[in-house]
Amino acid sequence: MRLLVVEDDADLNRQLVAALSEAGYATDAAFDGEAGHHLGDTEPYDAVVLDLGLPVMDGVSVLESWRRNDRTMPVLILTARDRWSDKVAGIDAGADDYVAKPFHMEEVLARIRALLRRSAGHASSELHCGPIMLDTKSARVTVDGRAIKLTSLEYRLLAYLMHHMNRVISRTELVEHLYDQDFDRDSNTIEVFVGRLRKKLDLDLLETVRGLGYRLSDPNDAA
Ligand code: CA
Repeated sequence: MRLLVVEDDADLNRQLVAALSEAGYATDAAFDGEAGHHLGDTEPYDAVVLDLGLPVMDGVSVLESWRRNDRTMPVLILTARDRWSDKVAGIDAGADDYVAKPFHMEEVLARIRALLRRSAGHASSELHCGPIMLDTKSARVTVDGRAIKLTSLEYRLLAYLMHHMNRVISRTELVEHLYDQDFDRDSNTIEVFVGRLRKKLDLDLLETVRGLGYRLSDPNDAA
């Protein structure tokens, strides 16, 4: 999962990026509305954290423009605590949820998890695929109840596949959703990670669709 943080307060931006990266997301940062708007308009983010009070271009205008351009990713807005009218303007502009400043980082993380699973059509923070269970809350993975240790990139890969089960996902899509923009991207490494993931999970639910990409099939859906 790849996220974008648009926040002009440099400390807060850094804290958000650190917490989201720690939670297993590839995370890009923008420090003004125009830069944030451009990234959100051109890169395929799974969700965005958007401050409303931004220099150059304000958050509501950024969001309105994204929605006009059919950018439908979930957006969590950050608002000033005493400005209820900001929340209304943000939600009317197309925000999916909001957090008022000052906030606890845990609340932002929980709201992001909820936005991601809702946009993928899941109701619970635990995702299941046959014997695989992925807990998006604790970033834990088990197979038949047995804990599996994954690197952060392997976890990210599995989380993306489990949010989008039964769909063929191209290598390009994976590269775009697993790495932040500063990462030296190489779609060949995806194959390596898929191989490692298969080995660790010891499963054949993750198939290669020749020339197209990969598909994680839920055996319960196929029945
Ligand atoms: Ca601000």
